Amino acid sequence: MIEFTEKQKKVLSRYPFKATQYYLDLIDHGAGENDPIYRQIMPDEAELADNESSFDPLAENKYSVTSRLIHRYQDRALLLTTGNCLVRCRFCLRKRFWNGSDNNCPEITSAEIVEAVNYVKNHPEIKEILLSGGDVLSLKTEKINELISAFHDIPHINVIRIASRMLVVEPKRFDEELLGIFSKFDKLWLMTHFNHPQEITEMTAAIAKKIVKTGTPILNQTVLLKGVNDRTDIQVELCQKLTAIKIKPHYLFHVDPVQGVRHFATGIETGLEILHGMRGRLSSISTPTFAIDLPNGGGKVALQYNYQKNSAFLNTEETEYIEY
Ligand code: SF4
Repeated sequence: MIEFTEKQKKVLSRYPFKATQYYLDLIDHGAGENDPIYRQIMPDEAELADNESSFDPLAENKYSVTSRLIHRYQDRALLLTTGNCLVRCRFCLRKRFWNGSDNNCPEITSAEIVEAVNYVKNHPEIKEILLSGGDVLSLKTEKINELISAFHDIPHINVIRIASRMLVVEPKRFDEELLGIFSKFDKLWLMTHFNHPQEITEMTAAIAKKIVKTGTPILNQTVLLKGVNDRTDIQVELCQKLTAIKIKPHYLFHVDPVQGVRHFATGIETGLEILHGMRGRLSSISTPTFAIDLPNGGGKVALQYNYQKNSAFLNTEETEYIEY
């Protein structure tokens, strides 16, 4: 039973709370409010401090081409399948779906799937579909099967990405039936969202192994969050643990400027320093790309620590610049 403080209760009518028992059990109560899971999931008064920022800084509404499909990049499109999740992460990009009612983006209907599929069929430049939400794996397995089959049959679609936090917050959702879907469709990639090494358990490792056995690659996207994972040692441990269970650290994102989320922003310089700190401690397969998403749908930009001075570059021991 969760007990909220009076301050936390004030936040709930605007930004509700939701969590799985599995995820709550990962909290180290000895660490109090500084625990990285606690900070990601428990309401914080700071969420109410910002009334000016956009709820849609990436202009997803502007780039919507059907009721559910967002076509922002030429070769890929994102489908909003549901606003529902098993958790409510306080840093969520799509807090605009919450609104107290939890239902601003109800489960996608069959008619909406057909509408999106027709658009994609008429746009052969689209090679990848990203199934997102909310959490697509919170849908019934039957619905997930319907969604994937609809896009899998389009010849010019090479990749169907499933963006989900389910492996982080409720790994047992990957039951035999769901794993059967991962085995059945060979265009699937799973995009997970681990933010802290404390989120990786024995159960995570066991389920990740089963997913990999279905032939599905797993990539991870982390969001850099102030007070949660904004230290090099945390990021290094996270990336090492992910790679050890065959999850490739793919992106480290600076948090988007969403209303109710900005207190998590570290600043881009912090991200670059962490990236620099990872150098020499992580191999290339364990090192994510650090990126920001530009406002108003400007797209992703990968950022790099500056190793160049005129025509010279900092050597790997970082002791001298060498002309090239
Ligand atoms: S699981 Fe993803 S979509 Fe759902 S609340 Fe968390 S970050 Fe947002």
